[in-house]
Amino acid sequence: MRYFFMRWARNAFFIMSMTFALLLLTPDRVMQFQWVWIGWVFLLSGAMAAMSAYRWWEQSRDMALISAQYKEMTKSYRNANQVLLPPDASLYPLSREFNEMQTTVRRELIANRRQVASYETLFANLPIGVLTVDYRHRIVDMNDAAWQMLERRRVTLPTNEHDILKHFILVEIIRRTFEKRENIRQVVALNIGGKQRQIEITTLLHQPTSDRDEVIVLLYDLTTMLTLEQMQADFLANASHEFKTPLTAINGFIETLQGPAGADAALREQFLGIIESEARRMTDLVNDVLSLSRIQHGQTVAENSIIPLAHFTDELWQTLQESAQQKNITFKNTIAPDIEISSTPETLKALVVNLLSNAVKYNQENGQIEVSAQVEKNVWSLRVKDSGIGIPTSQQTRIFERFYRGDASRQRRIADGTGLGLAIVSELVQQLNGQIHLQSQVGVGTTFTITLPK
Ligand code: ADP
Repeated sequence: MRYFFMRWARNAFFIMSMTFALLLLTPDRVMQFQWVWIGWVFLLSGAMAAMSAYRWWEQSRDMALISAQYKEMTKSYRNANQVLLPPDASLYPLSREFNEMQTTVRRELIANRRQVASYETLFANLPIGVLTVDYRHRIVDMNDAAWQMLERRRVTLPTNEHDILKHFILVEIIRRTFEKRENIRQVVALNIGGKQRQIEITTLLHQPTSDRDEVIVLLYDLTTMLTLEQMQADFLANASHEFKTPLTAINGFIETLQGPAGADAALREQFLGIIESEARRMTDLVNDVLSLSRIQHGQTVAENSIIPLAHFTDELWQTLQESAQQKNITFKNTIAPDIEISSTPETLKALVVNLLSNAVKYNQENGQIEVSAQVEKNVWSLRVKDSGIGIPTSQQTRIFERFYRGDASRQRRIADGTGLGLAIVSELVQQLNGQIHLQSQVGVGTTFTITLPK
């Protein structure tokens, strides 16, 4: 259609131009053919008007096309198409600019969407609680960790901060941030899930859009980290204490023996005995530390063998009998004689000896110890029950730490020990993919149960 018009207009123009030239070349005939001349002028004007009209129609149509695509683009970039015009269309350069702009914006938008999606995932899964409070003290955003920390059921946001924040101190810190227009960082103790947790609250004041302030609140649970720090400090203090005690005794008695007391044969004998026992204690300590480190590095290379559990336990009991007799402790082994388990003798010995020697050390005069075992489909378990002093609940999770010794055993000097026995047991059980369970009541007794895969 478009080309037909163009060709028609060009031919018409050509014929008119030729006729007009002929008429000009023969001026005396002009007057005779005046009507022809006038007719051609009309025809020429008509052709030019038709061409302009066509141009105008074509431009309006292309403009409408661009504008429709523009509208689509503002609605959604997904549905917008490129505007395709023939290269000789008058709006062709504009359509090219438009298409380029559309491609750039689409690319930017996809990049933005991707970025927003990753930020949203990050925000939702951050281990730190994050919430945003606007200038009207409404919570406008809150991630999963924050909902959990604040122990609230999810509600639709925005909502008033008082509906969600039940900790007065938190509301107070947010209020201070808005009022003083400065960020605050403070560690506070909050009751979460019935337990005291150390939470670091950080507030960040910002103005995301207009001149209205918003406060982003970060909630970071420091409890585990602080507990670990405390454990590390205790470990160092306990370890140095355990090493220092025998060394101090050894040095003290050596000094005494170097003085006049050294001449007294009876005293010398007694002091040398003490030095020997303290040196043995230090050797035990070093051995325990070494075996712990070996277990931790998986350096127990011995082969498993089939061990009759009852007999094995009875034999180990012989080595503890002397100290048990001093307290008049009764020992009862109820392990069925036919129970056999697969283990390395060293591992089993470390497990049984540590549990049995504790049962003796922390038992009362005339106390009892009972050892029993059970074999199930995939696991076997060993239970050591004593009628000893028991372990306070507050210490029950800590006794498996290295060098940790219960207050009673340290202060009242109930028993000698390194504080490494249960750490060794727990480490071994862990290495063997087993479990250790403790049940204890102060003044009544303690039962340790270890469960190991067959
Ligand atoms: P140690 O006996 O050398 O102190 P352990 O690691 O074997 O070290 O035990 C750690 C602590 O656990 C002990 O100091 C003691 O307070 C407590 N404990 C362990 N076994 C018993 C038990 N059978 N009865 C009471 N307390 C126990």
